Amino acid sequence: MKNKDPKGYYAILGISLSADASEIKAAYRRKAMELHPDRNPSPNATSQFQLLNEALAILSDPSSRAQYDTIAIETHDSTASQAREEPPEPIVCSCCGKVSAQPRYAIFFSVKSFFLHSTRTAVQGIFCSACAEKKALVATATTWVLGWWGIPWGIIYSIQAIFNNMMGGTQPAHVNARLAAHQAWVFAALGKIDLARAVALDALALSKKVKSDTGIAKRKKSLGYDVPDEGVELQQQIHKLLEILGGGGAGRLTDTWGLFRRPFYIQMALTIAIISVIFYLNTSQPTHTRLQSSDPFVANRLPTSTPEPYVAAFKNPKPSYVRPASAPNGEAWPIHASYIKGYPQTHKSGYSKITIDNSQNDSDIFGKLVSLDGQNALPVQTFYIPARGRFTLDDITAGSYDIRYRNLHSGHLSRSELFTVEEHRIGDSVRFSNMTMTLYKVRNGNMQTYGLPEDEF
Ligand SMILES: [Zn+2]
Repeated sequence: MKNKDPKGYYAILGISLSADASEIKAAYRRKAMELHPDRNPSPNATSQFQLLNEALAILSDPSSRAQYDTIAIETHDSTASQAREEPPEPIVCSCCGKVSAQPRYAIFFSVKSFFLHSTRTAVQGIFCSACAEKKALVATATTWVLGWWGIPWGIIYSIQAIFNNMMGGTQPAHVNARLAAHQAWVFAALGKIDLARAVALDALALSKKVKSDTGIAKRKKSLGYDVPDEGVELQQQIHKLLEILGGGGAGRLTDTWGLFRRPFYIQMALTIAIISVIFYLNTSQPTHTRLQSSDPFVANRLPTSTPEPYVAAFKNPKPSYVRPASAPNGEAWPIHASYIKGYPQTHKSGYSKITIDNSQNDSDIFGKLVSLDGQNALPVQTFYIPARGRFTLDDITAGSYDIRYRNLHSGHLSRSELFTVEEHRIGDSVRFSNMTMTLYKVRNGNMQTYGLPEDEF
């Protein structure tokens, strides 16, 4: 190749031929500031600025860049004569600079997303298969890590990019057919006849993939233009070269770009590994929880191998409450709500009333009115109220009290808040308290209750 940058696009941007799309954009921004005619007084600023814009337009589109990158690559129909005058320059990998029998123009994509913003960057150039493999892996890994986070384009671009890279990137057929034809001619000029023949056969195969009827070509043809069919022209040139090279051994190249080779497997493995990790993370959470909560179930499922007392203890960590057959003093529980015989019933020299409403509860209660006026809490009245019942304590002496009671179904102990029973004499009449306490666990109960230790009941 005589000139790899025939119009100076890379030169005006100040970048290397292997720059990726994001480097091109960054270089453009920098140079546009510098060369903008409003800022730059130099006489050729305007023409430079135009060239800069032209460079961006061509190089930022992957396929027009591919075309530009290979524009200087010639294919020769008058091989022998020209070869003698000026030895052709071989096509080298734009990455490692080596000459290979199968250089290919390939375009890989990497995707980066930030919130709703996703950018797709093309990494492209003429690569040997080893360098292409590395470029594809880097682009794919970048996409896996940074590509997904934009909705929806991050996800769409990422899937496209990963698939594209895994399949060896986008390889424009017309460009690659020309590369191969040129390389065949180079090897022929160097006297490597067998290799030249093999590469020429490769070029022939590639030229047959060139689609002649692109949109633009079709439109031009329909307008009456004579549109050269690039594929057909290439095939004619290659056939001429093959004639010159003669029959010889029908050696073919091993296709280092074949799909089911190393790069494909590495990327496939990477894809599978990442999908597995995502799948594992998604499923491991609930599995973990399930194991934790099923521990008692596992213990119960193996009664034969588990000692009986252990199973019993496991099922009932606390000895279950058994409803006493009678009141603690031995008296039978009354049938109706009433005081319990045998207990002292004091503090009954007043006028106040306390009604304890158990009417909305399903459990019987064993209760005490406890005086809080002395040094120690003193139970002064003891009573029983069946489920759905209510009971009124009469003639209560003024003072501070609370109510303590046991739920006879569950054994649970509760007490009310402290309350004060008041009496005021006004002339001949007495004003006194008449309160109703609706018990705990009722939706609209009016009594705040607290747990109560056994020794305070
Ligand atoms: Zn290389």
